[in-house]
Amino acid sequence: MTEVAEQFTEEQSGEIARISHWIDGKPVDGTSGRSGPVFNPATGVQSAEVDFASPEEVDAAVQAAKRAFESWRTVSLSRRTEIFFRIRELLHDHSDDLARLLTLEHGKVFSDAKGEVARGLEVIEFCCGIAQLIKGEHSEQASTGVDVYSIRQPLGVVGGITPFNFPAMVPMWMWAPAIACGNTFVLKPSEKDPSASMLTAELLKEAGLPDGVFNVVHGDKVAVDAVLEHPEIAAVSFVGSTPIARYVYETGTKNGKRVQALGGAKNHMIVLPDADIAMAADAAVSAGYGSAGERCMAVSMLVAVGHAADELVGAIKERLPNVKVGDGMNPDSEMGPLVTREHRDKVASYIEKGADEGATIITDGRETTPDGNGFFLGVTLMDDVKPEMDVYKDEIFGPVLGVTRVETYDQAVKLVNDNPYGNGVAIFTRDGGVARQFQFDVKAGMVGVNVPIPVPVAYYSFGGWKNSLFGDLHIYGPEGIQFYTRGKVVTSRWPDPATSKVDLGFPQTR
Ligand code: NAD
Repeated sequence: MTEVAEQFTEEQSGEIARISHWIDGKPVDGTSGRSGPVFNPATGVQSAEVDFASPEEVDAAVQAAKRAFESWRTVSLSRRTEIFFRIRELLHDHSDDLARLLTLEHGKVFSDAKGEVARGLEVIEFCCGIAQLIKGEHSEQASTGVDVYSIRQPLGVVGGITPFNFPAMVPMWMWAPAIACGNTFVLKPSEKDPSASMLTAELLKEAGLPDGVFNVVHGDKVAVDAVLEHPEIAAVSFVGSTPIARYVYETGTKNGKRVQALGGAKNHMIVLPDADIAMAADAAVSAGYGSAGERCMAVSMLVAVGHAADELVGAIKERLPNVKVGDGMNPDSEMGPLVTREHRDKVASYIEKGADEGATIITDGRETTPDGNGFFLGVTLMDDVKPEMDVYKDEIFGPVLGVTRVETYDQAVKLVNDNPYGNGVAIFTRDGGVARQFQFDVKAGMVGVNVPIPVPVAYYSFGGWKNSLFGDLHIYGPEGIQFYTRGKVVTSRWPDPATSKVDLGFPQTR
């Protein structure tokens, strides 16, 4: 049994486990005297206490990563590939263990947690092709006797700061390409659900990754600031809310780092009058309420065009009683709790606010919330939401789906393009020409055509526009490889062997 699995056995016996850092290939207890609680959101019971790192502890992780970088960058591509294949196999074999940790700390239902691990594994599979991905270019005879070629080299120690909502997959978006490219890594995961990172660390070690290549420091703003200000960290990847993404981008770049900072979202799904309404309603329910709406690619606003509205709202309402809300470890549950009590209460307050602002509450999630101390909230559907309302403008990040009614395609596109976020967007239509025009018109980084959550496969890159991403390179895929490497161009000339005065010891025949 892995140490992390043992910890959860302790949890079931009612003890509060301690979650420490992972530095230089082993768990290291925190010494800052600061820590935070980790809850099982389905029961509301505290399961663990996680150590919060001080700047000195972050520095210890960075120094371990710095030492490891000197040899890791020399490891051959074939050896790195071999290690990545083993990482892939081990994480795959432990996907149930990882998913269980996700459900117990985040709350998402177990099948969804398995889906998270599977999507993360795709990124690792992509990284198994590192030898191909990191190739440079070569121009022979750029000038007479002169060749020019480019190589891509790792940056050094890189940092990753991740959100609570994908505690296994989002770190994989970062550490897998970073390490495959020859960097070493310091991860600061969300303090709300830190255990998946510790199991990942154990498995990476078991797969043969040298000590110090992957490190984990837990904590809050203190640890984040220490990462952003550390002179030995060359680059930082961040995924989280927009205000923190902006802060991380500004602070990291001010300290001379390369930064990609992915922020929040308000994803629209446009339904045209010619759409397959049953298909659109199914998609809206799974994309709006899956993972309790705590996905950066969740659909939170439906834009119903023309006569699509009544039928769409009716079809969604009809489906809502089927969304069984309960403990994510119960196979009958389709939607789990929210991550914390505070977040649940904040999301619930938007139902009241929506009603006050003049939206029509079709289904009120507060009325179907299961009993008990878990951080549950039932599903909510709000119609007649207007762009000036807070329920439209704010990223609610919960199981609350709003419907805005417009008359024309142009009005629908304007809503999306005027929105300060630009992560994902989807259109539902049977008209290929309109869909093609939409992908041309719309200002968002990821577009779905009859696909509600258009998360790119691992061999494309993920990223939004506007306030959904600060920086220029998207995450994972080809842009991830670019982010974690820097280019070098070599211009070389060799003496012509035919005219060279050097005796090569064999006749020159040219
Ligand atoms: P968050 O911004 O609160 O936290 C993200 C990380 O930043 C965590 O590691 C946290 O410890 C740290 N942090 C929090 N407050 C900080 C502060 N004041 N100073 C420095 N660091 C701080 O986000 P969250 O609540 O964990 O995650 C949900 C958010 O993440 C949503 O807005 C969601 O849209 C977004 N998200 C975006 C994407 C994307 O790809 N664009 C993906 C997943 C989640």
